[in-house]
Amino acid sequence: IPTEVPAANRTQNRQLPDPSAGSGTQEGYVFQNTPDTDPSLAANRAWADAIRSRMTGSTLGDDTVAANTLSTSEQVSERIATAVASGEAWRALGAAGRAEILHRAGDILEARRADLLEVMGSEAGKIIEQGDPEVSEAIDFAHYYAESAKKLAEVDGAVMQPVGLTVVTPPWNFPVAIPAGSTLSALATGSPVIIKPARQARRSGAVMVEALWEAGVPRDVLQYVQLDGRSLGEQLVSDPAVGRVILTGGYETAELFRGFRADLPLLAETSGKNAIIVTPSADLDLAAKDVAYSAFGHAGQKCSAASLVVLVGSVAKSERFRRQLIDAVRAYEVGMPEDGRNRIGPLISPAEGKLLSALTELHPGQSWMLEPEKLDDAGQLWTPGIRDGVQRGSEFHRVESFGPVLGVMTADSLTEAIDIVNDIDYGLTSGIHSLDVDEVQQWLANIQAGNVYVNRGTTGAIVQRQPFGGWKKAAVGAGSKAGGPNYLVGLAEWTDALVQS
Ligand code: GLU
Repeated sequence: IPTEVPAANRTQNRQLPDPSAGSGTQEGYVFQNTPDTDPSLAANRAWADAIRSRMTGSTLGDDTVAANTLSTSEQVSERIATAVASGEAWRALGAAGRAEILHRAGDILEARRADLLEVMGSEAGKIIEQGDPEVSEAIDFAHYYAESAKKLAEVDGAVMQPVGLTVVTPPWNFPVAIPAGSTLSALATGSPVIIKPARQARRSGAVMVEALWEAGVPRDVLQYVQLDGRSLGEQLVSDPAVGRVILTGGYETAELFRGFRADLPLLAETSGKNAIIVTPSADLDLAAKDVAYSAFGHAGQKCSAASLVVLVGSVAKSERFRRQLIDAVRAYEVGMPEDGRNRIGPLISPAEGKLLSALTELHPGQSWMLEPEKLDDAGQLWTPGIRDGVQRGSEFHRVESFGPVLGVMTADSLTEAIDIVNDIDYGLTSGIHSLDVDEVQQWLANIQAGNVYVNRGTTGAIVQRQPFGGWKKAAVGAGSKAGGPNYLVGLAEWTDALVQS
């Protein structure tokens, strides 16, 4: 088995870009989504095997983490000062100058795809099939925001201006795409960035940042930090020099941040509690497959994951869909990402609190359609669980569990099903499986969620095609959507261009 696969074999339909050429910089460039690796090619399966064999003991990103771990308040102040001081030169490059560097960053992220998959597997338990589209998304963000900033540089006499130093605090569940998207969007508008990746995914964030440095983003303009101690986090987020904080994480973290500074300019994508409705007109085979993948991909650790399925009318009453769903979910092997057979990897840390109770405790009226089984002593590897009989208003109806457990609810009509879903405080993603156009229209007109998916799963939003962001408690701040045409609008300041004649 070859350990290194020629890069051009990685996808069927695309040559790898040459980073020195700058794939987005040619005349007439039109943004296109980056293809994922095609696993039907034997060469790509060998490529993935080689990556998996390097996950154990991987040290990628270690040096960057070690060199940038700050332990004193003076160090934090220094970093803030150098970032602020670097801002003017970065702004002065202009949207086109910055875009050239961002396009190169996209190409380097592509060139480092294998490294990114290795570090995400080794550090965050991400299996290659989940990590690969995530790398594609990060690359898409680079090219997309580069072009977006060029288009928005001046709109109807209003000039886009950077808000200044942007602090990025991404989560561990998408350790490459989310930090990349937040960082690249701020850089595209001309702001310098200090990024502090989640502790559980700090090496993945480091490798992503290294790619951006290599592309030509100056190290003062993009600073990577890990902080020894929570008070340093508070200092960084609440410094008055900070023009924007981009947070992706729990709702509680957004509340915590707002407590640091009353006028904190916070843009946050927070929690979700997402449902897929299945009506009697649905293609039930497709629905079972999409519900299973949306609920259990990356062990359910996605804000976008389906945590509930609401069965309507005859689907609720018959056993057929439940059997199909059980079969679809049982097909997933659970285990570590080093083993290519596994489709569900470990939890980021041992299940505890509300996730542990969601995996182990039934409430009145509920039964296990599939009872979760703990496969390791630590409690990080769980087979997927499906609980039937979740009641409206119960804890499982409303509270996010962020793990491999799905609840089944029932409704007599589509109207009732929509009510059940809208009765949740969060509104991030939502799905319907129905082949009836009237039902789909009714659902679209009434459902309260940022990303609405028809006859598709609820995870894996694609840049430009499915701009991502929520409603209600799922979003705090500008409310524009990542990977969409307006995202940079909300990240920048706008000044009027006064044209002197
Ligand atoms: N954008 C990701 C998706 O569409 C979800 C991001 C998250 O979990 O925060 O699946």
